[in-house]
Amino acid sequence: MKFISTRGKSEVGCAANAIAKGLADDGGLFVPEKFPSVTMEEIEKMTECNYAERAAIVLHKYLEEYDYAELKSACELAYSKFENADAAPLVKIDDNFYIMELFHGPTLAFKDVALTLLPYLLRKGSDISGIKEEILILVATSGDTGKAALEGFKNADGIKIMVFFPSEGVSDMQKMQMCTQEGDNVNVVAVKGNFDDCQTAVKKIFTSKEINAKLLEKGVVLSSANSINFGRLAPQITYYFSAYADLVSSGEIKLGDKVNFVVPTGNFGNILAGYYAKKMGLPVGKLVCASNDNNVLTEFFTTGTYDANREFFKTTSPSMDILISSNLERLIFELSDRNAALTAERMEELKSKGKYSISNVEKDKMSKEFYANYTEQQDCAETISEFFEEYGYVADTHTAVAIDVANEFVAKTKDDNQTVVLSTASPYKFAHDVLTAIAGKAPIDAFKSAEKLFEETAAPIPYQLLSLRDKEKRFTEVIDRTKTVDAVFEFINK
Ligand SMILES: *Cc1c(COP(=O)(O)O)cnc(C)c1O
Repeated sequence: MKFISTRGKSEVGCAANAIAKGLADDGGLFVPEKFPSVTMEEIEKMTECNYAERAAIVLHKYLEEYDYAELKSACELAYSKFENADAAPLVKIDDNFYIMELFHGPTLAFKDVALTLLPYLLRKGSDISGIKEEILILVATSGDTGKAALEGFKNADGIKIMVFFPSEGVSDMQKMQMCTQEGDNVNVVAVKGNFDDCQTAVKKIFTSKEINAKLLEKGVVLSSANSINFGRLAPQITYYFSAYADLVSSGEIKLGDKVNFVVPTGNFGNILAGYYAKKMGLPVGKLVCASNDNNVLTEFFTTGTYDANREFFKTTSPSMDILISSNLERLIFELSDRNAALTAERMEELKSKGKYSISNVEKDKMSKEFYANYTEQQDCAETISEFFEEYGYVADTHTAVAIDVANEFVAKTKDDNQTVVLSTASPYKFAHDVLTAIAGKAPIDAFKSAEKLFEETAAPIPYQLLSLRDKEKRFTEVIDRTKTVDAVFEFINK
């Protein structure tokens, strides 16, 4: 299957090429030439499969050139790193209300679902593409991608990984997770500024012909583990199918019934995977896009204008503190009936003016598929506390944003489909803020907060966090954002 760029000036022959390259040469994002379909019979078959098998079925629709048996083994290995080898267990909270827990992987955030598998997809993709050079993965992270990518790629053959995070934009636990990272091929650098500064700096490196040529002289090619890479996006499609199959097999729905998904959104990667699942034939009702105080997406869905010229808020859900949602480009490409020239124009406007608008026809199309709203920090804290009191369920700060928006969505639209909220992080990853929400106050120290949260809620502390406490801090560098290129060359010259 060919992969084309959202900006129309670049294409590659197969998914392996798209994954190896990460970003298209014209600065656009790779999308499949057309969406493969999944039939009701196949979905029914999935009810009898484990998570890894479901993943292999969904992924092979796009990754046709990957050997199926090998792909399946790679999925089994990746998901063996999750509790009970299930990357997406579904918890019933109430009638019509479920939480899909995507945080039982090595780094306790949903990014693990893709990043435990991406090293295989990328290594194999490069081999298929005939790339002989060493691969350097550059990551800009708002916290969770960085750690999940480091853990996924540590000590991978022929691959180096370098992570940039905003020095003041991640939680203490996230910082600790990244700065104690083990592995011979990893580097972690804090950048002064916010996530958008990091992402822009990294994107510039990716698209600079000059830097890429210099790297090639040193036998290095770049690739990306951010959700702009199709290899990151594709594994996320699986869990929408998986949730659906679970609802069918537990008798909660009949095959063909529609299900809504509510997604706490930042870079628009997670929810876009749900949109792709729908395009492939999954019976999805509404995709609900939940934002925090940085509500640029809510405004876009409501007005049809995307305007990043606004104040940036640092919130208790830092992985959603984003004003430029990269993956939205893939959505507006579809909404415009795949008009690449128009998409390129809009992305150019975004770059030069910080804003663009879509037409009313496109906006109406979008409203049929999506619902969007946001939750301010204070309401998010209240939701955590109320949800715990009512259901005994401890939600993290990102998940709570989605829960609050889900409640509002159901109350307002009276929609009576089954609704699944995607839970994207363990509450222990954001223990300080979760505890503050539940108990009114919390210790500064992240581990003390975790212990106290356990005392309050009896939710088990994940061992992945406990083991952090005694680890050596290996990375302490903080650089100016103008120095990111120098930092890259320093790392590969080492
Ligand atoms: C990354 C992340 C998000 C946002 O996901 P996107 O794919 O960027 O929309 C939400 N919650 C958590 C915990 C995350 O790590």
